[in-house]
Amino acid sequence: MSQVQKSWKASVLTLYPEMFPGSLGHSLAGKALEAGKWALETLDIRAFSSHKHRAVDDTSAGGGPGMVLRADVVAAAIDGARRQGDARPAIYLSPRGRPLTQARVTELAGGEGVILLCGRFEGVDERVIEARALEEVSLGDFVLSGGEPAAMALLDACVRLLPGVMGAESSALEESFTSGLLEYPHYTRPRVWEGKEIPEVLLSGDHGKVAAWRREKAEAITRERRPDLWSTYRRDQQKGQSHESD
Ligand code: SAH
Repeated sequence: MSQVQKSWKASVLTLYPEMFPGSLGHSLAGKALEAGKWALETLDIRAFSSHKHRAVDDTSAGGGPGMVLRADVVAAAIDGARRQGDARPAIYLSPRGRPLTQARVTELAGGEGVILLCGRFEGVDERVIEARALEEVSLGDFVLSGGEPAAMALLDACVRLLPGVMGAESSALEESFTSGLLEYPHYTRPRVWEGKEIPEVLLSGDHGKVAAWRREKAEAITRERRPDLWSTYRRDQQKGQSHESD
């Protein structure tokens, strides 16, 4: 019997399903979606409410401004997205989450897909985060008005890594973060623009010299802009060297 390859599947739980596919319907992700290299399902959280007027939120216990998404409604939506034997992680996009990294993106792209919960208002009732073992993932140290743009960013980052999605597969290996360094600068024609020349070495045709120049620049940029990444990179390099001499 021929094994049908199941495509990587994203289920997005949102109060604004009409926001999707949004940017994911264009360019690389959009073409891959059309070609069936991944699948996108949006579930309207409101459809899972059994309350009057399909209410999804209520006031925050203890007082204070803002509304909170109800645990029962969110749980019903998550359970509605899960099929039997579904091994996909359920992720709540949240400013309190662990910041998203290329390493986590690579892991997620290597799995079966993701279930993404987009919060709104003040967020969701804490009990559903615990009860459904939601992984909290943040896009960065800033506050969005809703999880949707964060879900789109996470999906965009995953989808471009799926087999057959990116044209030049090797570009994923060289770019920022994959090597632990920020990427070196790029240039293209014209050779001189506003009096600025493309660095001579890049036109030399000497692949060894080009590679050395790029590494030097990548290291300098990382050291200057991201001391956090730089110290991890240096530590890993030193570890690598000590293994070589073992
Ligand atoms: N009161 C919350 C913020 C809620 S913002 C707090 O101070 O932590 C509303 C929703 O936007 C959140 O539920 C979450 O889904 C989304 N969101 C906001 N900032 C985000 C970020 N940096 N990363 C991922 N999702 C975010």
